[in-house]
Amino acid sequence: MTSRFILIFLDGLGLGSAGPQNPLSDPATMPHCQALWAHPLLAEVQVQRPRFLLKPIDATLGVPGLPQSATGQTTLYTGHNAARFRGKHQTGFANGSLRQLIEAHGLFKRVLAQGGTATLANLYSPAYFEAIAQRRWRYSVCTLLNMTAGLPFRMQYEYERGTAIFWDITGEIASSRGIATAPITPELAGSYLATLGNHHSITLFECYLSDYAGHARAYDQAVAVLQRIDRFLATVVASLGPQTSLIVVSDHGNVENLATKCHTLNAVPLWVVGPAAHAFTTVEDLTGITPTILANLLTPDGVKGIAQK
Ligand SMILES: [Zn+2]
Repeated sequence: MTSRFILIFLDGLGLGSAGPQNPLSDPATMPHCQALWAHPLLAEVQVQRPRFLLKPIDATLGVPGLPQSATGQTTLYTGHNAARFRGKHQTGFANGSLRQLIEAHGLFKRVLAQGGTATLANLYSPAYFEAIAQRRWRYSVCTLLNMTAGLPFRMQYEYERGTAIFWDITGEIASSRGIATAPITPELAGSYLATLGNHHSITLFECYLSDYAGHARAYDQAVAVLQRIDRFLATVVASLGPQTSLIVVSDHGNVENLATKCHTLNAVPLWVVGPAAHAFTTVEDLTGITPTILANLLTPDGVKGIAQK
């Protein structure tokens, strides 16, 4: 069966061992998702049921050093090993040579080429693009992914009508910066994302809360953001249309080990719910996400997509 996809990227969330350093050891940290997983979100987790897959995948990509966001995200959204391409793990932003991979092999462009539709659900602001124009800020991978596909960015007027979500899920930060009016609940954000997802071949949402909490090494803050993510994810799962599959994935570990403020070498979770879940059983690392999406895409005329690597 072919699928639409909602891809939720959670920055810096790996699969670690149980212990006081890992807020995910406590089932109460993510109770709603925990009920779906029926296993703690720890190393070696492996759950496979009809329309349901949860497994560890490698984030180190065979390159020495701690995995970083720019190469991890580029790998996720192109299917090409960006860490190998760069010869190292690259932090933060995607300027320079990574753009070559995104431009040529970006998931959004290829979904459009297969006759599908793609959208980035994240809220953007004019201030973001002004900062880039003034060279105070640089492009993230998902910004380049969207831009190189020639797709528009979702702005405040779309946020106000429920068709954009800020990266912190509730929009508290956007509200404090004056780019959104009032914060919303994680449940409302989840239902907004599910609605977008039921209208596009691929809908991407990126959340960085987990990575910031991991770098901060603050246990209570980590639990609070994971609880927010839990409520959000559970609502998306509950709101999925029959042809929509949800993929949740990360680029590297971080928040699962608060004993260090650095990223970790841990595997990351790949969680897929929906009709395409079985197709992801063979994915072993970050390179497998894009080709598997492209091979299982529901295009408007219902024709199964053909992956072109
Ligand atoms: Zn980080």
